[in-house]
Amino acid sequence: MARIVQKFGGTSVADLDRIRVVAEKVKAEVDRGNQVATVVSAMAGETDRLVGLCRGVTPLHDAREYDTVVSAGEQVTSGLLAMALQTLGVPARSWLGWQIPIATDEVHGKARITGVEATELARRLEEGEVAVVAGFQGVSPRRRIGTLGRGGSDTSAVALAAALRADRCDIYTDVDGVYTADPRIVRRARKLTKITYEEMLEMASLGAKVLQTRSVEMAMKHGVPLRVLSSFADGPGTLVVDEDEIVEQEIVSGIAYSRDEAKVTVVGVPDRPGVAASVFGPLADAGINVDMIVQNVSEDGQATDVTFTVSKAELAPTVALLEAQRGALGYRHLRPDENVVKLSVIGMGMRSHAGVAKRMFSALAENGINIQVISTSEIKISVLVAEQYLELAVRALHAAYGLDAE
Ligand code: ADP
Ligand code: ASP
Ligand code: MG
Repeated sequence: MARIVQKFGGTSVADLDRIRVVAEKVKAEVDRGNQVATVVSAMAGETDRLVGLCRGVTPLHDAREYDTVVSAGEQVTSGLLAMALQTLGVPARSWLGWQIPIATDEVHGKARITGVEATELARRLEEGEVAVVAGFQGVSPRRRIGTLGRGGSDTSAVALAAALRADRCDIYTDVDGVYTADPRIVRRARKLTKITYEEMLEMASLGAKVLQTRSVEMAMKHGVPLRVLSSFADGPGTLVVDEDEIVEQEIVSGIAYSRDEAKVTVVGVPDRPGVAASVFGPLADAGINVDMIVQNVSEDGQATDVTFTVSKAELAPTVALLEAQRGALGYRHLRPDENVVKLSVIGMGMRSHAGVAKRMFSALAENGINIQVISTSEIKISVLVAEQYLELAVRALHAAYGLDAE
């Protein structure tokens, strides 16, 4: 007998027919003699709708009330799946974040899970009851609902699996595993049988939304065996594993992209010590996360340009902050640009192979795609390019690294 956490994403619970299919999948696991806790997302499109309602009232809404509204979608699906299971004769009970409780910090809208009290849930699993947990939500120290950021139900599932010491955490979604690139963009992407936690972490944080970044972080930290598979078709999916479980390591295992980037160039800042600190200090104080950075050396020793990226949502506050500091910074002007995307190639093999970056730059050059900013780490290289090249660039890189399916 195994203890399993199964998570079903938005498209997997998009309507009552889909919820019935999910209930059958859960029942199959129960019939095999396993203890099952499920985590559900809101119905596809529902969270977007709820976010839209909040924005419709005011763009500058209170984050605690945002959480009250956007967490509602998961309440509905948890109750519906529990009912669907009951009609199949499977004992089941729904659980909201506060009822377990799943504790979060107070960073409303992108809260972190700080603890899961799973004793009662574990007791009921032992008795053969299926737990149907609302994903994406928890409760803050001041007993307000906290949500975990978009895609957060993945993290709910992994946190629950860790707390329940589950044998497996299965993430059911609308693709049948993790691919070498988003299969919706690259038709010739290949499904990976296994991927390391480290690579999955980079893929997720660089834009592959198949798993929320924090869910991978947490699975790696707690050693939760993680699997990504389809709720629409049978199949083994992709296992996320430790490095030593991969026999043949590819140099590059995947390509990721993110549309959620915006570029700012601060033109003509004085070229003297302390300038970077004075540009980025106020942004850090405001909690704005800066991603890629380039600073040119000035030709005349007088003035230079600093270019960096932030998430699209943080572009407006970034520009406002820098404009407010214009006198102190002494730059000539600001050039914000939202029409950019970040492309990344990821692979553990990069640590020991030369020429990976060269291949990326050549493939982009051959397609006439100009690189605006570059950043690297041990197992990835990222570049910023104009948004119009997204699909062409991802496909070109996929082919250049020999990842295309036959
Ligand atoms: P869910 O609602 O089940 O959480 P998501 O939409 O959050 O599903 O994540 C699944 C989607 O992730 C897929 O439909 C796919 O388009 C996208 N995706 C991006 N990169 C990858 C990748 N490398 N492998 C698989 N899917 C990917
Ligand atoms: N429903 C939430 C979202 O759309 C959480 C999730 O699906 O993981 O972001
Ligand atoms: Mg998701």
